[in-house]
Amino acid sequence: MKHIDIATVLQDKTLLGSKVTVCGWVRTSRDSAAVAFLELTDGTSFSRLQVVVDKSSLSLDPECTKCGASVAATGVVVKAFKGDGAELNAESVTLLGRCPNDYPIQKKRTTLEFLRGIPHLRLRTNMFSAVFRVRSVAAQAIHRYFHENRFYYIHTPLITASDCEGAGEMFRVTTQPWNAAYDSEEAYYKEDFFGQKAGLSVSGQLEGEVAAMALGRIYTFGPSFRAENSNTTRHLAEFWHVEPEIAFAELPEVMEVAEDMIKYVVRAVLEECPAEMDFFERFVENGLKAKLSNIVESSFAVLDYTDAIELLKKADVKFQFPVEWGCDLQTEHEKYITEQVYRKPVFVVNYPKEIKSFYMKQNADGKTVAATDLLVPGIGEIIGGSEREADPDKLLAAMQARGMDLASYEQYLDLRKFGTAPHGGFGLGFDRFVMYVTGMENIRDVVLFPRTVKNIM
Ligand code: ATP
Ligand code: MN
Repeated sequence: MKHIDIATVLQDKTLLGSKVTVCGWVRTSRDSAAVAFLELTDGTSFSRLQVVVDKSSLSLDPECTKCGASVAATGVVVKAFKGDGAELNAESVTLLGRCPNDYPIQKKRTTLEFLRGIPHLRLRTNMFSAVFRVRSVAAQAIHRYFHENRFYYIHTPLITASDCEGAGEMFRVTTQPWNAAYDSEEAYYKEDFFGQKAGLSVSGQLEGEVAAMALGRIYTFGPSFRAENSNTTRHLAEFWHVEPEIAFAELPEVMEVAEDMIKYVVRAVLEECPAEMDFFERFVENGLKAKLSNIVESSFAVLDYTDAIELLKKADVKFQFPVEWGCDLQTEHEKYITEQVYRKPVFVVNYPKEIKSFYMKQNADGKTVAATDLLVPGIGEIIGGSEREADPDKLLAAMQARGMDLASYEQYLDLRKFGTAPHGGFGLGFDRFVMYVTGMENIRDVVLFPRTVKNIM
């Protein structure tokens, strides 16, 4: 059907006075004997288009006034009665699809909880359509940032035999019948599709390193899968993962890219989604826009893990998890550091080697690794990164200390055998990033169909 976007009608001043056709869904309507007003949205903009129907010259199907009905309207674009926008003086309104009264998305305010039960319809609310426009703009900006900085976009496999040790529990990929019986685990997997145990990748990093050691700078942007058996507001079983990997980079350069990328994408969202950001500011997080402008303008803090522990020990707060050098930082600790102390993003650096992965570069102190997590207010960790261990002997020792099966990492070890070089990278949880820029507090509300423990609607 030939028509133009409502966003175009609202923004393009040259259309004033011309006749156009728009298509959309009715959000609200006011109907009187002489005139009817339909507010239409087609998803292209936050603002809706008001369609004015003069009932003395046009007979309007009452179904066209129902919330949720889809219609096509043809008419002349005129200056809006209020404000400096545009509206449409209808010459014809055609019903495309009726919407009965049990439509669950009504004007009255509902809860996010209720909307989670109707993931196929919730995008039609102001809030969710705004979240997904911002999500798209942020994703495009990430690609643009990397492209402009000569990072090559790599597609790493989703089905894998390695489990990127330490990153989380893996989902199994199998074609075995549910009642397959075998004498041993080995015999069982031998009969399986790949002839060995396989699963969904928790991270593309190890393959990303392969590409970085040939192309210099690369990134991946795709789904990762983790069988996280925890019901939190920031964990999904299937999430979108941005993982750059940079050859010849040490930890400070990895952090520089992370900070630069975040600022670039935040700036893009502020510039490209002003109406959405105004909405989030008003209805989701008071102070959101100032928070984000601040991000763009100031430097992120850097805090050594050892100093973080001191800071937490001195804190005037009762933590649920006790703090000792060597412990992993819990969400409550991360939030204290970034929300109470710094009130901005903080890179925590140089974690104890025991709580981090085998591939991280061992520092000269023999106790810590050149790893960093980026913590942000409201969420905690959104990035985990490190310089990678480039020394073959040290890497081997770290793997042996963890009792890893060296045979299955032969290719990874080859990267250190043939022309090894310093390199590093990080993983950004894209869904967590979308939470951060929209102010949404539950990760289930920034993905189309969230997959979490016991939930695959
Ligand atoms: P956390 O400690 O929060 O569980 P992690 O340390 O296991 O995260 P990493 O392995 O460092 O996570 O992964 C890099 C990034 O990917 C994290 O900083 C986070 O933003 C994101 N991420 C990790 N697991 C999940 C998940 N289950 N759902 C959504 N995002 C995730
Ligand atoms: Mn991490």
